[in-house]
Amino acid sequence: MVKFFNNLFNFIYPAVCPVCNDFVERHGMLCAKCWNDFNWISNPKCFKCGYPFPADLDLGPRPLCPHCATGECELDFIRSACVYDDVSKNIMLPFKHASNLKYGRLMSHAMINCLKDMDIKFDIVMPVPLAYKRLFKRGYNQATLLARPIAKYCNAILDVDSVSRKYRQDMGHKTTKERKINVKGVFVVKNKDAVKDKNILLVDDVMTSGATFYELNHVLRKAGAKSVCAVSFCRVVHAI
Ligand SMILES: [Zn+2]
Ligand SMILES: [Zn+2]
Repeated sequence: MVKFFNNLFNFIYPAVCPVCNDFVERHGMLCAKCWNDFNWISNPKCFKCGYPFPADLDLGPRPLCPHCATGECELDFIRSACVYDDVSKNIMLPFKHASNLKYGRLMSHAMINCLKDMDIKFDIVMPVPLAYKRLFKRGYNQATLLARPIAKYCNAILDVDSVSRKYRQDMGHKTTKERKINVKGVFVVKNKDAVKDKNILLVDDVMTSGATFYELNHVLRKAGAKSVCAVSFCRVVHAI
């Protein structure tokens, strides 16, 4: 019976690639052509922060980038599904700003795929908080939409209210140093008991300089978090 209704549903709403509208096997799936257009991050990459290395480099099973080798990355792990480029930008920006939410499922599925080599059982999945002013203007926090299926996959609590964010001017077009200063002191842990001794996974759509993840890591550790990891759909890859 369930199969009958599934077939009926697929007949009325056929599964199409959310990027090019070609027919695909399952809802939320990309077609092979669109899949190949993305710059997915796979091995070799930095085992700690997920920074992608050139494909032909053989660096052993757990290579570290220069930042992580010198202990600069304070998070336990960071992972991103793909590199920020014209292809990922073309689905990330409409998802973020134009309420085009049809890309959400493929984005969160791609993020779940890149969690698999992190050997941590998460207690809390926390979308990077949005300031209330922005939340009311946009109507939704794009990171929460991505975090919901991830929390379900991890069998963890989706925590959207233990940390709040103060309103600051947009960070667009600023340097790494300016982003770091701009985000300093912007997050406030409102419920320390909820995060104390917990393994926390932060979720965001894009990682630019990492300043937002670092600052959240800082306040959560101060509040007693046991470990802090982060996952984003795409990341800006600077030469290091
Ligand atoms: Zn397609
Ligand atoms: Zn690294």
